[in-house]
Amino acid sequence: MNTTEKVVTRFAPSPTGKAHAGSYRTAMYAWLFARKHSGKFILRIEDTDKERNDTESEKDIYEALAWLGLSHDELYIQSKNLTRHQELLNILIQGGKAYISKEEAKDGSGIIKEIIRFKNPNKKIAFIDLVRGEIETDTTDLGDFVIARNINEPLYHLAVVIDDHDEGVTHVIRAEEHIANTPRQILIIEALGWVPPAYAHIPIVLGSDKQKLSKRKGALPMTEYAKQGYLRDAVFNCIAMIGWNPADPGSPQELFTTEELIERFDFTRVQKSGAVFNIEKLNWYNREYLKKLSFDELFLYLDQYMPEELKNKENYSQMLKKIAPILLERIEKGTDLTRMYTDGDLVYFFTQPQVDVKKIIWKGLAEDADKIGKTKKHLEGVLELITKDTMSNTSEEWKTILFPYADANGRGDVLWPTRVALSGQEKSPDPFVLIGILGKEESIGRLTHAISLLSNEA
Ligand code: GLU
Repeated sequence: MNTTEKVVTRFAPSPTGKAHAGSYRTAMYAWLFARKHSGKFILRIEDTDKERNDTESEKDIYEALAWLGLSHDELYIQSKNLTRHQELLNILIQGGKAYISKEEAKDGSGIIKEIIRFKNPNKKIAFIDLVRGEIETDTTDLGDFVIARNINEPLYHLAVVIDDHDEGVTHVIRAEEHIANTPRQILIIEALGWVPPAYAHIPIVLGSDKQKLSKRKGALPMTEYAKQGYLRDAVFNCIAMIGWNPADPGSPQELFTTEELIERFDFTRVQKSGAVFNIEKLNWYNREYLKKLSFDELFLYLDQYMPEELKNKENYSQMLKKIAPILLERIEKGTDLTRMYTDGDLVYFFTQPQVDVKKIIWKGLAEDADKIGKTKKHLEGVLELITKDTMSNTSEEWKTILFPYADANGRGDVLWPTRVALSGQEKSPDPFVLIGILGKEESIGRLTHAISLLSNEA
């Protein structure tokens, strides 16, 4: 790169399916590099494969980039450059650098078709890859490769070279799978009398099975992570760090703002081998960023994913505010609230739960002939302490009141039935937390109901 030249990078996706983390990591690196050098980041939709393009995928690209904040300075649609591609194709043919070849179609139909091949000068091509170092290839093995289906249909190698040149791209930052295409493209660039850009081929992203991340293996489109409630900052931080470590040597730092990532971006620390994307790591990042939200932000976040059925409850907003810290401990992402709801782990905060008498009895009392009587007695003991108390409000205060009783009478024997009576669930926050959230009156109602159920059993 000429030092006075402004950096121009690009992301050039083909809209042939909804792209996942692998593609967007490459886009991030192109964007981070451009922003670091106060350059330009171009988005080019490579839509020349009419049979495989679809508008849904194109929409998905815009949506994912906007969500990630990978703002582009210019947008190009490759198919609109067709006249220019044809013009240069003709120049190559006229200059003897490419030729029309009549060949039998590969489909076995026997039809003779005209295709356009590049006249390979059969030379060695060397280029410096910013990730891998010098790469040299003898292009002889590549033969006279095809650059257009016919004069009206230039293909990828030609189109990409022309667009990168015309759009002023200084650094081609793209997926490793294109590394074998680079010598062909440099041959075309030289035939057109141009200077090749710099290249950086980004190693592939692997799934946890160490195979290339793919839709078939469950990799989700980037836009899906947004819908599930992964926070933009968490996804950005996590994905940028697949195979790149921006931390100072020896530092365990894993959380970086986008500004820090821009400042630290450098190809020398991008690892050469494939790097693994795993969902557990993304979940960890998401929780770290959820913990950074202010209380109001957390409330709004949770509200987006709460089931409609609960939003209709009268006490909805008030209760959501109370349980927000508890929910934060129990979820990795917004849509986990749907799972919690289906498992019955949400609804009891909002309405009195159905209580299964069998669940109320602590397992330590299972063999006791008087298990129902004892459980009922403990619940009555708890109920009395709560009813008598006029001071307690918080979970901590309720704990001070009730814990000595539980300690004296058997913690499991007392606390287990209290919890089940309040939540209907075998797993839930502890009874002190529940009483703190539900309040004295509601807790009394629920305990009284459980005691009456036990009375009916006795
Ligand atoms: N359109 C190509 C793709 O989606 C990228 C071409 C390039 O980056 O050179 O794989």
